[in-house]
Amino acid sequence: MSLTIGILSIQGDVQENLLSTQTAIDELGIDGNVIDVRKPDDISQLDGLIIPGGESTTIGQLSLVNGSMKILKEKIDAGMPVFGICAGMIMLSKTANDRIVGKIDQPLLDILDIKLERNSFGRQRESFETEISMDSINISKFNGVFIRAPSVSEVGSDVEVLAKFGDKIVAIKKGNVIGTAFHPELVEDVSLHKYFVNLTNTLKN
Ligand code: GLN
Repeated sequence: MSLTIGILSIQGDVQENLLSTQTAIDELGIDGNVIDVRKPDDISQLDGLIIPGGESTTIGQLSLVNGSMKILKEKIDAGMPVFGICAGMIMLSKTANDRIVGKIDQPLLDILDIKLERNSFGRQRESFETEISMDSINISKFNGVFIRAPSVSEVGSDVEVLAKFGDKIVAIKKGNVIGTAFHPELVEDVSLHKYFVNLTNTLKN
């Protein structure tokens, strides 16, 4: 049966993720399609979901208001694969603190037992690119694009660390859930999107 992967289309890097995911599906030769998820009703048909980078306070607030938040949490807790990118990874966390403004009250999905530091590498002008290794998922070289990126400051015992940059955790995984502080949709290499498509395909079958 055909695979359906959604991109949460509330705010952020939606088009880039639609494109990278479709390319990943095509290169893998999997029968699948990518849709943008705008309303709570779009969620039920998904086999997997990407929550893109953008601004986590906006994504959280609008998801809460349009009723997606509760349905997303139920579906992810029930095993739907999800890939949270940057703001998307913040959305998956239990607690987030902003390095610059401290703790603010923002809606989070509370899926992963991780503590996040938002804007961990500074502001927009401190954006950078660096090589990242994720050996445990067989991606030994990946160009990580960091834009107002978070880092994970604490992980629960059941959360696997996939990558660090210096002493900061920048990619994590737990079962059906992965998160990166950097933006794989902004590079041509679709290996992380392929990893996620494969994960979704495996968990569906
Ligand atoms: N700093 C943003 C936030 O806290 C995330 C930035 C991004 O997704 N590129 O939501």
